[in-house]
Amino acid sequence: MSNPDDLTRNTDVVIVGGGLAGLFCALKLAPRPVTVISAAPLGQGASTAWAQGGIAAAVAEGDSAEAHAADTVAVGAGLVDETIALGLASEAGARIHDLLHYGVPFDRDLEGKLAVGREAAHSARRIVHVRGDMAGRAIMSALIEAVRRTPSIRVIEGFAAEALLTEDGAVTGLQLRKVGETTAKPVTIASRAVVLATGGIGHLYAVTTNPAEASGLGLAIAARAGAIIADPEFVQFHPTAIMAGRDPAPLATEALRGEGATLINDKGERFMPARHPLAELAPRDIVARGVFAEIEAGRGAFLDARQALGAHFSEKFPTVYASCMAAGIDPVRRPIPVAPAAHYHMGGISVDARGRTSLKGLWAGGEVSSTGAHGANRLASNSLLEAVVYAARIAEDIGGSPIAASARLPGTSMNQHDSAMPALEEKNLRAMMTSHVGVIRHGDRLAEAVRAFAAIERDTGNIALRNMATTALLVAASAWARRESRGAHYRIDYPSEKPALAQRTMTTLGAAHEIAASLSERAQARTVEHAS
Ligand SMILES: Cc1cc2nc3c(=O)[nH]c(=O)nc-3n(C[C@H](O)[C@H](O)[C@H](O)COP(=O)(O)OP(=O)(O)OC[C@H]3O[C@@H](n4cnc5c(N)ncnc54)[C@H](O)[C@@H]3O)c2cc1C
Repeated sequence: MSNPDDLTRNTDVVIVGGGLAGLFCALKLAPRPVTVISAAPLGQGASTAWAQGGIAAAVAEGDSAEAHAADTVAVGAGLVDETIALGLASEAGARIHDLLHYGVPFDRDLEGKLAVGREAAHSARRIVHVRGDMAGRAIMSALIEAVRRTPSIRVIEGFAAEALLTEDGAVTGLQLRKVGETTAKPVTIASRAVVLATGGIGHLYAVTTNPAEASGLGLAIAARAGAIIADPEFVQFHPTAIMAGRDPAPLATEALRGEGATLINDKGERFMPARHPLAELAPRDIVARGVFAEIEAGRGAFLDARQALGAHFSEKFPTVYASCMAAGIDPVRRPIPVAPAAHYHMGGISVDARGRTSLKGLWAGGEVSSTGAHGANRLASNSLLEAVVYAARIAEDIGGSPIAASARLPGTSMNQHDSAMPALEEKNLRAMMTSHVGVIRHGDRLAEAVRAFAAIERDTGNIALRNMATTALLVAASAWARRESRGAHYRIDYPSEKPALAQRTMTTLGAAHEIAASLSERAQARTVEHAS
């Protein structure tokens, strides 16, 4: 459905995003009428479809929600909200059963019990999966089918939300625009219950594993409407994305290093043994920093599976093999060029245990939200779990809340006219996120990025670029303000963790603008000083 006239009719509940969080929430709200808006056609443009591992759930004998929560807390570098982590782990079993009910064919063992796999930093086997590495695709296809069968769910594909409309601090609707048609007039949709489920921010970076739709637009529109944003500085980088000229970059799974593949530079030297006793099997952020440092030093980084896998590569890792061969790299004969890639955002729109944001009538679920479950680093396979648990909680909360009907269509808030996306500016923003706000950060480079993103946000005539700059600014400003290293946030000028700073960041766009203004003043003062 993509008829703009149909869009403008008043709607009860609007969900923005057609990934796991959005679709699951819509299904849980049935038979209450909901409208799901997705920038990309369902099944495309959602990170959910690309998830390979699965969902963490303590469903196996001998495992417990307490043990799962303890692992989550241990990885989160002192910032995980323990009550939230335990709540998440405790509801995992029920949500897996919901997914089974919607038709997700999770793998089972010979006795018919759910089969569970093991992943890094989990103390037990607890990753529920589908046909090895097909979890994401299987979840999406089952949920899309269930959504199409549910008459109370109206799906609008090909429209992107570009602004939230508010009145007296409460949400009254959304401004949308047809994707790719900058000259088209924006469309407004009235609703006093909006759920943002727009995914992550990986595509703000030049090197990422995320789809193009994960460019932080949902976070930006909430921030621009005044919502509190939590922990934006915490971005998880996957250490080994394949540098084969593809955007997004395909992953060379961690399992390759588990099988003995090593990381080398262009001189053929292994660089991880000098950095950590576990070498290539060190925690993800440490490996990411090692790879980044070699690239920055001009030596390049390569994953060498020639000895460890040799001729067995294609049969053991068919997906990675196909990605390499498509790029003209034969991993049986040549090391694979790799780089760290923006993979997952721990930060997001701050929500409470019901998924409510700080704005009345606005909920957020999935990767766009920040619940406190991940702290400064995410435990593998906890993100799909968080998406499904919070989507259910949001549906329950909305179901139980009286939502006032929108009496009239809200006016468009701003920018009736859009200009074409300036490709070079977008490219520069993404390059600066990778070089200045990436794996290894420094105060001076962060300050430069803050000033640059604030200028783009202020000056651009393109709404999507402005929203990208808003989110980039929030990430860079909070990274600049956190003068320590913690979890996935590493500052070379403040390389250690400071116990006094063990608090989550709670910020607003206004606070980020203040940081940008003071950094610009300082830079100007320095220029005058040099000139005189
Ligand atoms: C390669 C890869 C592998 C992963 N593997 C795992 C794993 O094994 N286990 C795990 O737990 N996690 C994994 N993750 C992370 C996990 O997939 C995501 O965190 C999760 O899927 C996010 O779900 P979501 O519903 O919040 O967002 P998404 O699934 O990304 O969906 C977002 C939706 O919002 C839409 N959208 C975005 N902006 C707008 C807008 N402005 N207007 C309208 N619509 C919009 C998009 O089109 C899309 O439909 C992986 C991620 C990647 C990239």
